[in-house]
Amino acid sequence: MRQLQLPAFQFTEEQMAFRQEVRAYLEQEKLDGAFETHSDSWLSGYSAEFSQKLGKKGWVGITFPKEYGGQARSSIDRYIITEELLAIGAPVASHWFADRQSGPLILKFGTEQQKEFFIPKIVRGECFFSIGLSEPNSGSDLASLKTTATKVDGGWVVNGMKTWTSGAHHSHYMITLCRTAPQDVNNRHGGMSQLIIDLKSEGVTVRPIQFLTGEHHFNEVFLESVFVPDDRLIGQEGNGWAQGLTELSFERSGPERILSTFPLLNEAMKLLKVKGDQRGLIDVAKLVSRMWSLRNMSMGIAAMLEEGKDVNLAAALVKDLGNSFEQSVAEVIRLLLPTMPSKQEADHYSRLLAESILHGPGFTLRGGTTEILRGIVAKGVVSA
Ligand SMILES: Cc1cc2nc3c(=O)[nH]c(=O)nc-3n(C[C@H](O)[C@H](O)[C@H](O)COP(=O)(O)OP(=O)(O)OC[C@H]3O[C@@H](n4cnc5c(N)ncnc54)[C@H](O)[C@@H]3O)c2cc1C
Repeated sequence: MRQLQLPAFQFTEEQMAFRQEVRAYLEQEKLDGAFETHSDSWLSGYSAEFSQKLGKKGWVGITFPKEYGGQARSSIDRYIITEELLAIGAPVASHWFADRQSGPLILKFGTEQQKEFFIPKIVRGECFFSIGLSEPNSGSDLASLKTTATKVDGGWVVNGMKTWTSGAHHSHYMITLCRTAPQDVNNRHGGMSQLIIDLKSEGVTVRPIQFLTGEHHFNEVFLESVFVPDDRLIGQEGNGWAQGLTELSFERSGPERILSTFPLLNEAMKLLKVKGDQRGLIDVAKLVSRMWSLRNMSMGIAAMLEEGKDVNLAAALVKDLGNSFEQSVAEVIRLLLPTMPSKQEADHYSRLLAESILHGPGFTLRGGTTEILRGIVAKGVVSA
């Protein structure tokens, strides 16, 4: 059996100072009324204005090359920003996918023209992306997807449907995995390509799917004879599957797979301290120690990504463990501080509790289900 070795990671003094700078800025923004703290804000807290503010600070696409407006800073600096944004529950959903995966994907596989067109806008917090993978009958088994792109003069005509598409009602573009050649039984993962679809194009209809809380954050996206010009194909035709896999490493290993319910944990800690509830604080301390070990693992992966290493297996493991941690935060805390959870309630704690409970079921579905992640881990260990 192979052992998973994640490098231990220690922040430098400079990095610690950067964290303090980010934290102080966010606390001041919150005090000034720019946002309220929410659980799971990376997927459902939309504020184009706030994304632009972060863009002005240089904190969107911070790792992107300077020639496209980025700062070429390390993925550890990006890790610090994302952790602080998640911890304070800031509204970052608008730019999250562009910063985390669409930008890096374009930088890795895109043409020079695509880089020059998209990356500076992403960095300014003005260009938002959605991920168009899932379809009504293709989720875990994504290779069975039915959306087609047919070659025509000057581009492609896309027909099909995507579902559960987070943020498609706010985003400008959707990176869409579609079939550009018929499925080959001997190569299930071939014949797929990634197209950047402008969500304002003729033939695109975005319909809301209501969340358990009544919020609108994901959608059905219907694509009816949508024309996509040739220059919106990313990378190589037919290589969409392999390209998409590189995105998954960015998607699965970040602190958002651990910290979606951190605002609730933080609020509960404050309330238990005020009550002087020592027993309750011990239970919270157990959660914090779990969080700390997951964080060390996730930072180890960030360090591996910095070195260009393959983190597919490690990211699947951290996502699985992180998601069950995020869910258990709400389970433990609602017993320690019982109340009627309600999104409508003015009481901050009751609102955070409602968000954490009602968003919880999605944690173990989005970005790969528990069963799929465990399959990756099991196969990785056995085949080593
Ligand atoms: C909050 C949220 C946001 C999302 N945002 C997006 C988005 O922006 N873009 C996007 O493309 N998608 C998005 N999704 C969709 C998500 O990626 C899919 O829900 C997920 O991949 C699972 O697919 P499915 O829903 O079709 O379930 P299925 O694949 O049908 O799975 C149903 C159940 O069967 C199990 N199962 C399936 N195959 C196997 C197997 N081989 N072995 C064992 N068990 C198996 C699964 O684990 C699951 O429990 C989002 C989902 C959620 C909940």
